[in-house]
Amino acid sequence: MEQKKGKLFVISGSSGVGKGTLLKKLIEKNPKLEVSISATTRQPRPGEIDGVNYFFTDKDEFLKEVENGDFLEWAEFNGNYYGTKQAWVERNLNKGRNLILEIETKGALQIKNKMPDSVLIFIMPPSIEELEHRLRGRNTEDEETIQGRLHEVRREIECSKNYDYTIVNDDLEKALVELEKVINSVIH
Ligand code: 5GP
Repeated sequence: MEQKKGKLFVISGSSGVGKGTLLKKLIEKNPKLEVSISATTRQPRPGEIDGVNYFFTDKDEFLKEVENGDFLEWAEFNGNYYGTKQAWVERNLNKGRNLILEIETKGALQIKNKMPDSVLIFIMPPSIEELEHRLRGRNTEDEETIQGRLHEVRREIECSKNYDYTIVNDDLEKALVELEKVINSVIH
């Protein structure tokens, strides 16, 4: 009997929206969901580990892989390149695994074009003001980087109109329940 293909979930949301925490909880409760590890040219943040958080690489290597057609999608975000490896996604979907890609909106729309069966979920901040407050609270980035991120936030919210689902993260537990509901309705 042919193996049933897995489902591909693409989750996007502005930085500071709490998407990382939400996804961590989702995976803890649903260990069968697999999360793709992206390649990026950005510098590791303190505590980030190569091969765990990202595959950290440089621009030349990244662009070589783009030319080789290694990426299912890739995009520039705030001055750095990010991409998802095609081979990993295909191999795991063919094994029947359900996958999560945590990527920004330009990449998400590339996936939707190539794989219309994919499910796009956007995590929305309660408000831009609240998000700005959270971003500044991190205290890890300079003003220019924060302004760059806020610009991307506005663009991404505009882009979320093309997503299948939108979840507002004003309460982590509530957002988690909603996210699980969406995923379970697709898987089962
Ligand atoms: P950060 O630098 O904060 O880890 O990520 C910046 C943005 O890049 C986030 O919106 C994140 O979802 C996105 N991102 C991470 N990996 C990928 C990827 O493989 N492809 C694309 N298109 N975006 C990614």
